[in-house]
Amino acid sequence: MNVDYLIIGQGISGTLLSRALMKLGKKVVVVDDGNISSSSKVASGVINPITGKRLVRTWMIDELLPFAQSTYREIEQERKIKLLSNCNILDFHASRDASQGFNDKLVEEKEYLSQSGDEGKWQEYFRFNYGIGEIDPCLLVDVGTLLRSWRDHLLVNDLSVWNRFRIDDCEIGQGNVKYGSIMAEKMIFCDGVASAENPFFSKLPWSKDKGEALIAEIPGLPATNIYKQGINIVPWRDGLFWIGATHDWKYTDMRPTSTFRKQTEELLDYWLKLPYKIVDHLVAQRPVNMDRKPFVGLHPVMPSVGIFNGMGTKGCSVAPYFAEQFARHLVNGTPLMPDVDVRRFAKILAR
Ligand SMILES: Cc1cc2nc3c(=O)[nH]c(=O)nc-3n(C[C@H](O)[C@H](O)[C@H](O)COP(=O)(O)OP(=O)(O)OC[C@H]3O[C@@H](n4cnc5c(N)ncnc54)[C@H](O)[C@@H]3O)c2cc1C
Repeated sequence: MNVDYLIIGQGISGTLLSRALMKLGKKVVVVDDGNISSSSKVASGVINPITGKRLVRTWMIDELLPFAQSTYREIEQERKIKLLSNCNILDFHASRDASQGFNDKLVEEKEYLSQSGDEGKWQEYFRFNYGIGEIDPCLLVDVGTLLRSWRDHLLVNDLSVWNRFRIDDCEIGQGNVKYGSIMAEKMIFCDGVASAENPFFSKLPWSKDKGEALIAEIPGLPATNIYKQGINIVPWRDGLFWIGATHDWKYTDMRPTSTFRKQTEELLDYWLKLPYKIVDHLVAQRPVNMDRKPFVGLHPVMPSVGIFNGMGTKGCSVAPYFAEQFARHLVNGTPLMPDVDVRRFAKILAR
Protein backbone atom coordinates (compact mmCIF):
# COMPACT_ATOMS: atom_id res chain seq x y z
CA MET A 1 0.00 0.00 0.00
CA ASN A 2 1.33 3.48 -0.92
CA VAL A 3 0.55 6.33 1.47
CA ASP A 4 1.73 9.88 1.97
CA TYR A 5 2.36 9.68 5.71
CA LEU A 6 2.99 6.89 8.20
CA ILE A 7 2.12 8.16 11.68
CA ILE A 8 3.57 6.34 14.70
CA GLY A 9 1.29 6.70 17.74
CA GLN A 10 -2.38 7.53 18.18
CA GLY A 11 -2.43 9.65 21.32
CA ILE A 12 -3.73 13.22 21.11
CA SER A 13 -0.81 14.16 18.83
CA GLY A 14 -1.16 11.31 16.32
CA THR A 15 -4.94 11.67 16.29
CA LEU A 16 -4.92 15.39 15.54
CA LEU A 17 -2.02 15.31 13.09
CA SER A 18 -3.48 12.41 11.08
CA ARG A 19 -6.84 14.20 10.95
CA ALA A 20 -5.24 17.49 9.85
CA LEU A 21 -3.31 15.72 7.05
CA MET A 22 -6.41 13.86 5.89
CA LYS A 23 -8.33 17.15 5.79
CA LEU A 24 -5.68 18.39 3.33
CA GLY A 25 -6.35 15.36 1.10
CA LYS A 26 -3.40 13.21 2.16
CA LYS A 27 -3.43 9.45 2.66
CA VAL A 28 -2.29 8.41 6.10
CA VAL A 29 -1.74 5.16 8.00
CA VAL A 30 -1.49 5.23 11.80
CA VAL A 31 0.37 2.59 13.85
CA ASP A 32 -0.45 2.26 17.55
CA ASP A 33 0.29 -0.41 20.16
CA GLY A 34 -2.80 0.27 22.31
CA ASN A 35 -0.83 1.05 25.50
CA ILE A 36 -3.50 1.70 28.16
CA SER A 37 -1.07 3.82 30.20
CA SER A 38 -0.19 6.35 27.52
CA SER A 39 -0.13 9.98 28.61
CA SER A 40 -3.26 10.79 26.58
CA LYS A 41 -5.27 7.97 28.17
CA VAL A 42 -4.37 9.09 31.69
CA ALA A 43 -4.77 12.88 31.12
CA SER A 44 -7.70 14.63 32.77
CA GLY A 45 -8.26 16.73 29.64
CA VAL A 46 -8.23 20.19 31.23
CA ILE A 47 -7.41 23.31 29.22
CA ASN A 48 -6.50 25.87 31.87
CA PRO A 49 -5.40 29.38 30.87
CA ILE A 50 -3.79 30.24 34.25
CA THR A 51 -1.57 27.65 35.91
CA GLY A 52 0.71 26.98 38.84
CA LYS A 53 0.97 28.43 42.33
CA ARG A 54 2.07 31.74 40.84
CA LEU A 55 -1.02 31.87 38.58
CA VAL A 56 0.88 32.43 35.34
CA ARG A 57 -0.87 32.81 31.99
CA THR A 58 -0.18 29.71 29.88
CA TRP A 59 2.08 30.16 26.84
CA MET A 60 0.07 31.34 23.76
CA ILE A 61 -3.23 30.54 25.48
CA ASP A 62 -5.09 33.43 23.79
CA GLU A 63 -4.50 31.69 20.44
CA LEU A 64 -4.46 28.07 21.62
CA LEU A 65 -7.70 28.00 23.60
CA PRO A 66 -10.08 29.29 20.89
CA PHE A 67 -8.31 27.17 18.27
CA ALA A 68 -8.63 24.03 20.42
CA GLN A 69 -12.27 24.84 21.10
CA SER A 70 -13.14 25.15 17.42
CA THR A 71 -11.14 22.00 16.50
CA TYR A 72 -12.88 19.82 19.12
CA ARG A 73 -16.27 21.29 18.16
CA GLU A 74 -15.59 20.39 14.50
CA ILE A 75 -14.66 16.83 15.49
CA GLU A 76 -17.83 16.59 17.59
CA GLN A 77 -19.86 17.40 14.50
CA GLU A 78 -17.88 15.15 12.15
CA ARG A 79 -17.90 12.14 14.48
CA LYS A 80 -21.26 12.80 16.20
CA ILE A 81 -19.74 12.63 19.67
CA LYS A 82 -19.51 14.93 22.68
CA LEU A 83 -15.98 15.99 23.56
CA LEU A 84 -16.01 19.41 25.16
CA SER A 85 -17.55 20.99 28.20
CA ASN A 86 -17.02 24.37 29.79
CA CYS A 87 -15.78 23.54 33.25
CA ASN A 88 -14.38 26.42 35.27
CA ILE A 89 -11.83 25.87 38.00
CA LEU A 90 -12.85 26.69 41.56
CA ASP A 91 -9.60 27.39 43.39
CA PHE A 92 -10.17 26.82 47.12
CA HIS A 93 -7.48 28.95 48.75
CA ALA A 94 -5.52 26.83 51.20
CA SER A 95 -4.22 29.74 53.30
CA ARG A 96 -4.51 33.48 53.84
CA ASP A 97 -1.36 33.96 51.72
CA ALA A 98 -2.83 31.94 48.84
CA SER A 99 -5.98 34.03 49.00
CA GLN A 100 -3.94 37.25 48.99
CA GLY A 101 -1.82 35.99 46.06
CA PHE A 102 -4.98 35.30 44.06
CA ASN A 103 -6.40 38.74 44.86
CA ASP A 104 -3.17 40.41 43.77
CA LYS A 105 -3.33 38.58 40.42
CA LEU A 106 -6.98 39.56 39.85
CA VAL A 107 -5.90 43.01 38.72
CA GLU A 108 -3.58 41.87 35.93
CA GLU A 109 -5.59 38.78 34.87
CA LYS A 110 -9.13 40.20 34.86
CA GLU A 111 -9.85 38.28 31.67
CA TYR A 112 -9.48 34.89 33.34
CA LEU A 113 -9.66 35.36 37.14
CA SER A 114 -12.48 36.38 39.47
CA GLN A 115 -13.62 35.73 43.03
CA SER A 116 -16.40 33.15 43.23
CA GLY A 117 -19.69 34.70 44.26
CA ASP A 118 -21.03 31.30 45.29
CA GLU A 119 -19.05 30.38 48.38
CA GLY A 120 -22.12 29.53 50.48
CA LYS A 121 -23.14 26.79 48.07
CA TRP A 122 -19.76 25.02 48.31
CA GLN A 123 -19.76 24.87 52.13
CA GLU A 124 -22.03 21.87 51.76
CA TYR A 125 -19.35 19.92 49.86
CA PHE A 126 -15.95 21.22 51.01
CA ARG A 127 -14.19 22.41 54.17
CA PHE A 128 -12.44 25.74 53.45
CA ASN A 129 -11.68 28.98 55.30
CA TYR A 130 -10.01 31.40 52.91
CA GLY A 131 -12.44 31.84 50.03
CA ILE A 132 -12.68 30.57 46.47
CA GLY A 133 -11.22 32.04 43.30
CA GLU A 134 -12.52 31.14 39.86
CA ILE A 135 -10.58 30.54 36.62
CA ASP A 136 -12.87 31.06 33.66
CA PRO A 137 -13.04 30.00 30.87
CA CYS A 138 -11.58 26.52 31.22
CA LEU A 139 -12.40 23.66 28.91
CA LEU A 140 -12.60 19.96 29.61
CA VAL A 141 -11.85 17.56 26.75
CA ASP A 142 -13.06 13.95 26.87
CA VAL A 143 -9.78 12.55 25.54
CA GLY A 144 -10.85 8.90 25.90
CA THR A 145 -13.85 9.43 23.61
CA LEU A 146 -11.71 11.37 21.11
CA LEU A 147 -9.14 8.56 20.88
CA ARG A 148 -11.72 5.75 20.66
CA SER A 149 -13.77 7.54 18.03
CA TRP A 150 -10.74 8.33 15.85
CA ARG A 151 -9.45 4.77 16.23
CA ASP A 152 -12.84 3.48 14.97
CA HIS A 153 -12.67 5.87 12.01
CA LEU A 154 -9.18 4.64 11.07
CA LEU A 155 -10.22 0.99 11.48
CA VAL A 156 -13.33 1.29 9.32
CA ASN A 157 -11.31 2.98 6.57
CA ASP A 158 -8.43 0.48 6.83
CA LEU A 159 -5.97 3.24 7.73
CA SER A 160 -4.38 1.72 10.82
CA VAL A 161 -2.05 -0.99 12.07
CA TRP A 162 -2.68 -2.04 15.69
CA ASN A 163 0.71 -3.34 16.60
CA ARG A 164 3.97 -2.36 18.24
CA PHE A 165 6.15 -0.43 15.81
CA ARG A 166 9.86 -1.35 15.69
CA ILE A 167 12.24 0.94 13.85
CA ASP A 168 14.37 -2.08 12.88
CA ASP A 169 11.46 -3.30 10.74
CA CYS A 170 11.71 -0.15 8.59
CA GLU A 171 13.78 0.72 5.57
CA ILE A 172 14.37 4.46 5.77
CA GLY A 173 15.65 6.36 2.73
CA GLN A 174 16.01 10.08 2.02
CA GLY A 175 12.80 10.12 -0.06
CA ASN A 176 10.60 7.41 1.47
CA VAL A 177 10.08 4.85 4.21
CA LYS A 178 9.11 1.20 3.84
CA TYR A 179 7.37 -0.53 6.74
CA GLY A 180 6.12 -4.04 5.96
CA SER A 181 3.85 -3.69 2.94
CA ILE A 182 3.46 0.09 3.48
CA MET A 183 5.47 2.55 1.39
CA ALA A 184 5.20 6.11 2.77
CA GLU A 185 6.67 9.36 1.61
CA LYS A 186 7.33 10.35 5.22
CA MET A 187 7.08 8.84 8.70
CA ILE A 188 6.13 11.09 11.62
CA PHE A 189 6.74 10.07 15.22
CA CYS A 190 3.84 10.93 17.53
CA ASP A 191 4.74 8.20 19.99
CA GLY A 192 5.06 10.28 23.18
CA VAL A 193 7.93 9.36 25.51
CA ALA A 194 8.98 6.49 23.21
CA SER A 195 10.58 9.10 20.91
CA ALA A 196 13.17 9.74 23.62
CA GLU A 197 14.64 6.31 22.76
CA ASN A 198 14.35 6.83 19.01
CA PRO A 199 17.72 6.92 17.12
CA PHE A 200 16.62 10.04 15.19
CA PHE A 201 15.27 12.09 18.11
CA SER A 202 16.84 10.77 21.34
CA LYS A 203 19.25 13.76 21.47
CA LEU A 204 16.42 16.27 21.90
CA PRO A 205 16.21 17.76 25.42
CA TRP A 206 13.62 15.33 26.80
CA SER A 207 12.53 15.53 30.40
CA LYS A 208 10.10 12.73 31.13
CA ASP A 209 7.69 13.40 33.95
CA LYS A 210 5.79 10.64 35.78
CA GLY A 211 2.25 11.60 36.76
CA GLU A 212 -0.22 9.75 38.97
CA ALA A 213 -3.95 10.23 39.42
CA LEU A 214 -6.74 8.48 41.32
CA ILE A 215 -10.21 7.74 39.97
CA ALA A 216 -13.00 7.98 42.52
CA GLU A 217 -16.72 7.74 43.04
CA ILE A 218 -17.93 10.87 44.89
CA PRO A 219 -21.72 10.54 45.01
CA GLY A 220 -23.46 13.93 45.20
CA LEU A 221 -20.56 16.12 43.99
CA PRO A 222 -21.75 18.23 41.01
CA ALA A 223 -19.80 17.41 37.81
CA THR A 224 -20.00 21.07 36.82
CA ASN A 225 -16.58 22.33 37.88
CA ILE A 226 -12.96 21.44 38.43
CA TYR A 227 -12.21 21.70 42.16
CA LYS A 228 -8.68 22.69 43.12
CA GLN A 229 -6.76 22.76 46.36
CA GLY A 230 -3.21 21.60 45.72
CA ILE A 231 -4.68 18.76 43.69
CA ASN A 232 -7.52 18.90 41.16
CA ILE A 233 -10.80 16.98 41.30
CA VAL A 234 -11.98 16.78 37.69
CA PRO A 235 -15.21 15.28 36.27
CA TRP A 236 -14.25 12.04 34.46
CA ARG A 237 -16.27 9.53 32.47
CA ASP A 238 -19.08 7.30 33.81
CA GLY A 239 -19.95 9.76 36.58
CA LEU A 240 -16.53 9.30 38.22
CA PHE A 241 -13.93 11.92 39.22
CA TRP A 242 -10.22 12.11 38.30
CA ILE A 243 -8.03 13.32 41.20
CA GLY A 244 -4.43 14.41 40.68
CA ALA A 245 -1.77 14.80 39.74
CA THR A 246 1.89 14.43 40.68
CA HIS A 247 5.01 15.52 38.81
CA ASP A 248 7.99 13.25 39.42
CA TRP A 249 11.21 13.72 37.41
CA LYS A 250 13.32 11.30 39.46
CA TYR A 251 11.30 8.10 39.20
CA THR A 252 12.91 4.73 38.70
CA ASP A 253 9.82 2.73 37.73
CA MET A 254 6.30 3.27 36.45
CA ARG A 255 4.45 1.66 39.36
CA PRO A 256 1.70 3.60 41.16
CA THR A 257 3.00 4.73 44.57
CA SER A 258 1.32 4.18 47.93
CA THR A 259 2.73 7.59 49.02
CA PHE A 260 0.64 9.47 46.46
CA ARG A 261 -2.49 7.50 47.33
CA LYS A 262 -2.01 8.06 51.07
CA GLN A 263 -1.29 11.81 50.74
CA THR A 264 -4.27 12.30 48.43
CA GLU A 265 -6.61 10.41 50.74
CA GLU A 266 -5.43 12.50 53.70
CA LEU A 267 -6.11 15.69 51.75
CA LEU A 268 -9.54 14.48 50.64
CA ASP A 269 -10.44 13.36 54.17
CA TYR A 270 -9.89 16.92 55.34
CA TRP A 271 -11.14 18.93 52.34
CA LEU A 272 -14.12 16.93 51.07
CA LYS A 273 -17.22 16.67 53.24
CA LEU A 274 -18.74 13.93 51.05
CA PRO A 275 -17.85 10.23 51.26
CA TYR A 276 -15.72 8.93 48.40
CA LYS A 277 -14.37 5.61 47.15
CA ILE A 278 -11.14 5.19 45.15
CA VAL A 279 -11.73 2.80 42.24
CA ASP A 280 -8.53 3.13 40.20
CA HIS A 281 -4.97 4.48 40.33
CA LEU A 282 -3.52 5.70 37.01
CA VAL A 283 0.05 6.42 36.06
CA ALA A 284 1.76 7.65 32.88
CA GLN A 285 4.79 9.55 31.63
CA ARG A 286 4.29 12.99 30.12
CA PRO A 287 6.46 13.70 27.06
CA VAL A 288 8.03 16.92 28.35
CA ASN A 289 10.62 19.06 26.59
CA MET A 290 13.06 20.98 28.79
CA ASP A 291 12.31 24.24 26.94
CA ARG A 292 8.57 23.58 27.44
CA LYS A 293 7.72 23.95 23.73
CA PRO A 294 6.68 21.12 21.43
CA PHE A 295 8.97 19.36 18.94
CA VAL A 296 7.48 19.86 15.47
CA GLY A 297 9.01 19.24 12.05
CA LEU A 298 11.20 17.09 9.86
CA HIS A 299 14.60 15.77 10.82
CA PRO A 300 17.27 18.17 9.45
CA VAL A 301 19.38 15.35 7.99
CA MET A 302 16.76 12.68 7.21
CA PRO A 303 13.77 14.56 5.73
CA SER A 304 11.65 11.42 5.32
CA VAL A 305 11.36 11.32 9.13
CA GLY A 306 9.55 13.86 11.30
CA ILE A 307 8.30 14.43 14.81
CA PHE A 308 5.17 15.85 16.45
CA ASN A 309 5.77 15.47 20.15
CA GLY A 310 6.93 17.13 23.38
CA MET A 311 3.40 18.27 24.29
CA GLY A 312 4.36 18.18 27.97
CA THR A 313 1.56 18.96 30.40
CA LYS A 314 -0.65 20.66 27.81
CA GLY A 315 -1.34 18.34 24.88
CA CYS A 316 -5.06 19.15 24.84
CA SER A 317 -4.48 22.83 24.07
CA VAL A 318 -1.17 22.71 22.19
CA ALA A 319 -1.71 19.75 19.84
CA PRO A 320 -4.74 21.09 17.87
CA TYR A 321 -3.02 24.35 16.85
CA PHE A 322 0.34 22.84 15.93
CA ALA A 323 -1.15 19.75 14.24
CA GLU A 324 -2.81 22.10 11.77
CA GLN A 325 0.34 24.22 11.40
CA PHE A 326 2.53 21.13 10.82
CA ALA A 327 0.08 19.62 8.31
CA ARG A 328 0.07 22.87 6.29
CA HIS A 329 3.87 22.96 6.48
CA LEU A 330 4.14 19.39 5.18
CA VAL A 331 1.58 19.77 2.42
CA ASN A 332 1.95 23.42 1.33
CA GLY A 333 5.39 24.34 2.64
CA THR A 334 4.11 27.14 4.92
CA PRO A 335 6.63 27.94 7.68
CA LEU A 336 6.56 26.52 11.19
CA MET A 337 6.73 28.85 14.16
CA PRO A 338 10.48 28.96 15.03
CA ASP A 339 9.69 28.39 18.74
CA VAL A 340 8.37 24.89 17.98
CA ASP A 341 10.35 23.96 14.85
CA VAL A 342 12.55 20.99 15.70
CA ARG A 343 15.25 22.60 13.54
CA ARG A 344 16.05 24.82 16.52
CA PHE A 345 17.96 21.68 17.59
CA ALA A 346 19.45 21.09 14.11
CA LYS A 347 23.04 21.05 15.38
CA ILE A 348 22.50 18.33 17.97
CA LEU A 349 20.26 16.33 15.64
CA ALA A 350 22.95 16.39 12.94
CA ARG A 351 25.61 14.87 15.21
C1 LIG B 1 -1.42 12.43 35.03
C2 LIG B 1 -1.46 13.27 33.79
C3 LIG B 1 -2.40 14.29 33.68
C4 LIG B 1 -2.45 15.08 32.55
N1 LIG B 1 -3.43 16.03 32.44
C5 LIG B 1 -3.49 16.82 31.35
C6 LIG B 1 -4.52 17.79 31.20
O1 LIG B 1 -5.41 17.91 32.04
N2 LIG B 1 -4.51 18.57 30.10
C7 LIG B 1 -3.57 18.46 29.12
O2 LIG B 1 -3.61 19.20 28.14
N3 LIG B 1 -2.58 17.53 29.22
C8 LIG B 1 -2.52 16.72 30.31
N4 LIG B 1 -1.54 15.79 30.42
C9 LIG B 1 -0.49 15.77 29.38
C10 LIG B 1 -1.00 15.05 28.14
O3 LIG B 1 -1.39 13.77 28.54
C11 LIG B 1 0.07 15.00 27.06
O4 LIG B 1 0.50 16.30 26.73
C12 LIG B 1 -0.45 14.33 25.80
O5 LIG B 1 -1.32 13.29 26.08
C13 LIG B 1 0.67 13.80 24.95
O6 LIG B 1 0.06 13.16 23.86
P1 LIG B 1 0.90 12.42 22.76
O7 LIG B 1 -0.07 11.91 21.76
O8 LIG B 1 2.01 13.29 22.28
O9 LIG B 1 1.61 11.21 23.52
P2 LIG B 1 0.96 9.86 24.11
O10 LIG B 1 -0.35 10.14 24.72
O11 LIG B 1 2.00 9.22 24.96
O12 LIG B 1 0.68 8.98 22.84
C14 LIG B 1 1.68 8.20 22.21
C15 LIG B 1 1.01 7.04 21.53
O13 LIG B 1 2.02 6.29 20.84
C16 LIG B 1 1.84 4.92 21.10
N5 LIG B 1 3.15 4.29 20.95
C17 LIG B 1 4.28 4.54 21.64
N6 LIG B 1 5.27 3.74 21.21
C18 LIG B 1 4.76 2.98 20.22
C19 LIG B 1 5.29 1.94 19.37
N7 LIG B 1 6.57 1.54 19.45
N8 LIG B 1 4.46 1.36 18.48
C20 LIG B 1 3.16 1.74 18.37
N9 LIG B 1 2.62 2.70 19.15
C21 LIG B 1 3.40 3.31 20.04
C22 LIG B 1 1.29 4.88 22.53
O14 LIG B 1 0.61 3.67 22.81
C23 LIG B 1 0.34 6.08 22.50
O15 LIG B 1 -0.93 5.73 22.03
C24 LIG B 1 -1.50 14.92 31.51
C25 LIG B 1 -0.57 13.88 31.61
C26 LIG B 1 -0.55 13.07 32.73
C27 LIG B 1 0.44 11.93 32.80
